[in-house]
Parts: sequence; structure tokens; C-alpha cells
Amino acid sequence: MISVEEALDKVLSYLEVLEPERKPILDCLGQVLAEDVYSTIDIPPLDNAAMDGFALRAEDTCGAGESSPVYLTVVGEVAAGSMPTKDVKRGTAIRIMTGAPLPQGADTVVQFENTDEVSRKSSRKDLSHIAILCQVKKGLNVRCRGEDIANSNLVLEKGRVLRPQEIGVLASLGCSTALVIRQPIVAILATGDELIDVDQPLAPGKIHNSNTYTIAAEVSRYGGIPKILGIGRDSIQSLTEKIDEGLDADMLITSGGVSKGDYDMVKDVLAERGEIGFWTVCMKPGKPLAFGVIKKMEGDRRRQVPHLGLPGNPVSSMITFEQFARPAILKMMGKKILKKPVIQAVIENDVLATDERRLFVRVNVTKRGGQYYASITGNQGSGILTSVAKANGLAVIPENSNGAKVGDKVEVQMLDWGEERGEVKTWPIVAIVGRSESGKTLLVEQLIAEFKRRGYKIAALKHSHCGDIEVDQPGKDTWKFAQAGSDAVCISSPRKLAFIKKSDHDLRIDEVLPIIGNEFDLVLVEGFKKSKLPKIEVHRQELGDDLLCSPEELSAIVTDGSLDSPLTDNYKLPILSWVDTAAIADLIEKNFVLNR
Ligand code: AMP
Ligand code: MG
Repeated sequence: MISVEEALDKVLSYLEVLEPERKPILDCLGQVLAEDVYSTIDIPPLDNAAMDGFALRAEDTCGAGESSPVYLTVVGEVAAGSMPTKDVKRGTAIRIMTGAPLPQGADTVVQFENTDEVSRKSSRKDLSHIAILCQVKKGLNVRCRGEDIANSNLVLEKGRVLRPQEIGVLASLGCSTALVIRQPIVAILATGDELIDVDQPLAPGKIHNSNTYTIAAEVSRYGGIPKILGIGRDSIQSLTEKIDEGLDADMLITSGGVSKGDYDMVKDVLAERGEIGFWTVCMKPGKPLAFGVIKKMEGDRRRQVPHLGLPGNPVSSMITFEQFARPAILKMMGKKILKKPVIQAVIENDVLATDERRLFVRVNVTKRGGQYYASITGNQGSGILTSVAKANGLAVIPENSNGAKVGDKVEVQMLDWGEERGEVKTWPIVAIVGRSESGKTLLVEQLIAEFKRRGYKIAALKHSHCGDIEVDQPGKDTWKFAQAGSDAVCISSPRKLAFIKKSDHDLRIDEVLPIIGNEFDLVLVEGFKKSKLPKIEVHRQELGDDLLCSPEELSAIVTDGSLDSPLTDNYKLPILSWVDTAAIADLIEKNFVLNR
């Protein structure tokens, strides 16, 4: 049995990035740019108005206000798409529409709302003058030439995946076509005497061919072009004919016929035609998998068509597609990120490990109180396609585990998230919150000691409500630098690093974490009760029964008394004793410490 990683490495080692082709930009969505794109123009091409209003000289508005209007002579009008025919001189203005080029002499646009334009128009007053009702700074409401893209700059680099916004950028540069890596053509063959196509009535013993459709839809979703070969029957002749039809494709995907049944002939036909490996992959569902290359002569050239033989069971076929065919297609398209985004979620059902294979469990992921939860979507049989239809993720239970228990943290591949979303960063972090004097500081101290005993590298972070933080004492150099007005003071010694930076707001945790770095096994936070961090609230009996945070935000409660509120029943919140540091550390370890 080979591991999922070994199987994927082998598949990918047979595939090359395809060659580039030039095509209309609208046909390039989701494809990888195969050239650097430089601009040959400035965007915008000229200084222009960002608002409907009056183009004028900022100087002329000096002293203007609601009660002290400045009157300017309106010498013309310029609409978007035309060029100004007059200049703006001292004491004059030109009526200008959004996007219209700024007239010579003007440096600013005052929007209509800050003039008497509307009242003047409604009272049919003379429009040859305008009252400016506020003083403005030079450059207001002016979009400068080249402020978006300057001529001859590199705008889109080779390797970029083209999304709607990149297609828009290409259009704004005046590119009607782009050079992109070609989309792979993927031939799809379903096999089996029991299969009937979707437009045919069912007959006894027969089932509809669903795999072709699932696979074709997957191929399209990941950017390939499906070429449907139909159904190959369980005979050498039928399979040979069908496979021949698929050999002009970039890859052939078959489903069925790779297990050990008497009629499973795909492997015999393929073994005859090329190099093929039959693998037992350490995964469930999807154990039998075939992969190889079919050799073919194209004129005098030998060509090899990679072939992936997926199992026939509809769920196995889809899950093996996700693990092997999807990255194969993405690689051929020149994409760099082949991995599905993975999140950490709390599993809401027990999962039994039946043998030593990696389990892919169909789950529905929801987010509640800053935490992902994964619940199993029903019958996990490899023929139950509806339980994949209900799922938005695949929980991955490692082969060497004993399964998972309710409440365990598991990795989930998010089926509907694009690869570009990348791996969602999860931090091994938990906040200990509680009212003042609840005992949270002491608990953090005890937890630090406990985790140090367990061999962890710990970062502790405190949220302070007071403005001043003292790290070093008054009179020390760092203190003097800070006193002198330095915005950041850093002191580094062979043994310590301390960093103080002035801030104009109460920093959010996501602004603080990058400074702390990611070298720690666990970040213990005291406070930050308003953040979306996973939280454990410290409750102290003598301060009353009310909690600081709402129960759905919390991962656990630690108390020095007893809390027999409906909290435990309704929210299934673990309640731990304040003195039992080891139990609290166990809970943190199980839920928030990753990859240990
Ligand atoms: P096989 O791998 O050919 O032994 O097929 C395993 C199971 O998957 C059998 O119950 C098949 O009927 C079913 N199966 C195979 N191919 C398809 C298909 N294209 N659509 C739906 N079910 C299929
Ligand atoms: Mg079959």
C-alpha cells in the first residue's frame, strides 16, 4: 500500500506544464498568464475629475465658506470623453463631469454639493457665475495621470492566475488577447456493463452512469476541457476502441474496472497499451487506483498520454479525483498552488478508524464563535453520492490514528474553496479572559509553567487597558529614547528582545501577531476579550454568576466555584476547576496546539 502523498508525487512526476496559447482575454478566466505584461500607456491618460463639479484653482477658494462664498466666473463646461477648449484663469471655473480631463490652469475640483449649483439651477439664476462654499486643498478630487498604471511599468507578471480583476486590468491596457498556459483536454471514460446513459430508461440490473458527469464537471471546475468518451463495456474490444478515441487528449481518466472483479478489464487493456501501475493507496474510500501512461505514435513521434484509473464507486471516484486528478490538471495549467485549502475544525461526531487507511470523511463545516465545526453528512458508504452533495469539506483522519472523538480537532479540506485561497493560517493561540481580579493572570502564569514542563515553546501576550507600558525602568536608555519621542524602541541583548512601539489605536490581535512571529507552539493571551480568538473565560464565584463573554464565543469556562447554569447543557461548554491547571492545559493542548 502506498501513501496518498507518494501516489500524488508519482502522478505529478508524469505531468508537464502545457504550452502557452494566445486567446481573447474573456476566454482566459482562471488561466495562468504566460508572459509579463507591461503598460504602453498611462492610466488614467490625463489628469481628470473624480467628481462632478467645478475645475478651478484651489488658491481662488481661500476664505470661502457657507457664509462667505467666493464667486467665480464659469467660462465653460467639459464632459467625460471630450477635451477642454478653455483654460482656467484666476477667478474662473469650468463645469466638469467625472472622468473629464482637467482644463489647463485648474488644479482642483470642487464638487457641486459645495457650490450653489443646485439652488442656482432650481431658481433659474444666472449660470455664468458660481458660488464656492468651502475652502479646498490643491489637488482635491483630481485623479492624476498615470496614478493607477504608469507607462512602461510591469503590470501583470508571468504566472499570475487571471481573475476578473486582472482581465479588467488587461482591458484597461488595451490588450484584447493574452498569452496563457493552455487548458488541458481531459478524456473521460466510464466503464461497466451495468451502465446506462442519463437519457436512457433504466433496465433491470442497470444503473445510470453518474461518474462521467461528476468527473466532467470537476474537470471544468478546475479549468480543464472535458472530452466525454461515453461508456466502455467490460470487453477488451470495447475498451480498446474507446481508449483509442481518447488518446489525443492531454490526460485520460477512466472510472471503474480497476478492482479485482472478473470483469474489471481496464487494467488488462491498459497493461497491454503502455506502462501502468496498479496501486493500493492507503486511503478510504478509494483504495484501488491505477496510474500510468499509454504510449501512442503521432506520425514518427512517440507520445505518452497519462492515464488515471479511478475506482468505480461514485464517491471513491470523486474523492480520488479531488486528491489526484485535480492537482494533475492544475499542474498542467501552470498553477503553483495545488493543495486544497485546509482548516482546523472541531469534529461533532465520533469517527471510527476501521483499518490503517487515511479516512476522507464527508462533512459539513460551519463557523460558530470564531471556531469551525465539522459534522458528518450521513451514510459514508462509497456509493452514497448524496452525502458528498451535502458536504462542503472532507475531514482527513490520519492513517495512524484511532479515528476521532467528538470535540477533537481535525483537518478539513474545503471542497468549495479555491486553491488560491491558500492554506488558512491557524495560530496555536487561546485567550484567557475574565473580569478584573478574576484570577486570569495567575492562571496564565500557572499555564505557562505547566506548558514549559510539557516541553512547549510559549509566547505570552497581555492586553493592557492603560496607555503606558513599562518594560524597562525610568532612567534606562530605552526609556530615554521613548521619552525623546522615538515611535518605536527596541532593545536587543544576547538573551532578550523587547520592543515598544507607539500606536494611535488599541491594536487588534492580527496586528500584534506578526510581530510575535510564528515560532511558538502556543500563544497564551491574557485579555483581548473583544477579539475573535478562541477564548477561555475565568469565572470567580465572588464576582457573581454573569459571564464577561457570551457562551457561544467561549471554548471553556474555568471557575473557582460551581456554575450549574444551563451553559453546559445548551452550549456543551466544558467547565473546569481553576485549581486544576493540568486539566486546563490538557484542554488547550487538545484543542489549540497544532501538529503535536
Ligand atoms: P467497479 O470499480 O467497476 O467494480 O465499480 C464499482 C461500483 O461502482 C459498482 O457498483 C459500479 O456499478 C459502480 N460504478 C462504476 N462505474 C460507475 C459509473 N460510471 N456511474 C455510477 N456508478 C458506477
Ligand atoms: Mg466495473
